[in-house]
Amino acid sequence: MTRSIPLGRPTVGQEELDAISEVFDSGWLSGAGPSCLAFESEFAEAMGASGALATSNCGTALHLAQLAFGIKPGDEVIVGDYTFPATGHSVMWSGATPVFVDIRRDIWSIDPAQVEAAITPRTVGIIAVDVFGQPADYDELRAIADRHGLWLLEDGACSAGATYKGRPAGSLADAAAFSFHGRKGITAGEGGALVSDDADLIGHARKLHTYGIAPAITREGQATLPVPSFDELGYNYRMSDIQAAIMRVQVRRLPELLRQRQVVADRYRERLSDLEQILLPAQLDDRTHPWQSYVITVAAGIDRGAVALALRERGVGCNFGTYASHVQPLYGERESLPVSADLFQRHIAIPMYAGLAEDDVDYVADTLRDVVASAAVRR
Ligand SMILES: *Cc1c(COP(=O)(O)O)cnc(C)c1O
Repeated sequence: MTRSIPLGRPTVGQEELDAISEVFDSGWLSGAGPSCLAFESEFAEAMGASGALATSNCGTALHLAQLAFGIKPGDEVIVGDYTFPATGHSVMWSGATPVFVDIRRDIWSIDPAQVEAAITPRTVGIIAVDVFGQPADYDELRAIADRHGLWLLEDGACSAGATYKGRPAGSLADAAAFSFHGRKGITAGEGGALVSDDADLIGHARKLHTYGIAPAITREGQATLPVPSFDELGYNYRMSDIQAAIMRVQVRRLPELLRQRQVVADRYRERLSDLEQILLPAQLDDRTHPWQSYVITVAAGIDRGAVALALRERGVGCNFGTYASHVQPLYGERESLPVSADLFQRHIAIPMYAGLAEDDVDYVADTLRDVVASAAVRR
């Protein structure tokens, strides 16, 4: 019997269905309602911040944060190169330019030692990406940002529940953006959140996420009939109250989901650490890894494409890791960033999700061992 083990699988079930049914009964399905407000306070607390705003996805949360920081066309923003398109794109949505900086070879987040060389008079901020959820170097980045008067934004799309020196992701920069896409550790199918201790920033983002007018819920129950005027260009970047209800359950389950993913990561390490043809992902001692993805690096001389194909043929879901941004045509001609460019060619994500059975983990590990030992994958 051939197995089929997906790369990832959302962990949702009866509790989430019950929560959806409560929202149906309440009659408030659209966004910025009671369910969103409850989710926001619970999520902010879980992320160690004083405020949160529920959004349609992480990209819109990144955009809102930058708008609230006052970004304008022509500005430059320093961005960790190895990431999903949302990070660089979100800078361009404001007519600003992402300036990509190379990454650490071990944990793949922006290399603080290379940030200062990229700062110009046009630089206004830094976006650090917690790659696959493991937090970037916030102490070093904070010092650089402060020295140059820049804002610091955490792309924490994958990092709900991660910690850095004992502090939760979401409390590590001026603001943080999270994703609740189906491939992330906690999910409502789609969704996102902006988190910050700065109440003015959250307030401004809140206004912009609902077409630049005060949300309907703040006008409910008023004795008069306040009619907002349009004084600022806003968007519909709202999460629906249905998604928020799902997310409230997911946030409650987060510690257990993280624990289950760590079990899978530990088992992979146990089963694969002696394998010469691959490098396992680094987990640094001063931070915790939420394992949104489990990404291995194939050694030089191994054909990644052939490995991926052979794994899929044997029922093991896999994919490339994430993207080197500076090589993408959309961003134009850029100076080469060797570490990011190299890892972009050598990464493979293998199955990782809460509840992945030990037996399946072992099957993945054995299959991988077999595949990389075969002559067919040597260049
Ligand atoms: C998934 C991801 C995003 C985008 O999230 P959406 O919710 O789909 O907008 C942004 N940044 C990183 C690092 C991601 O992994």
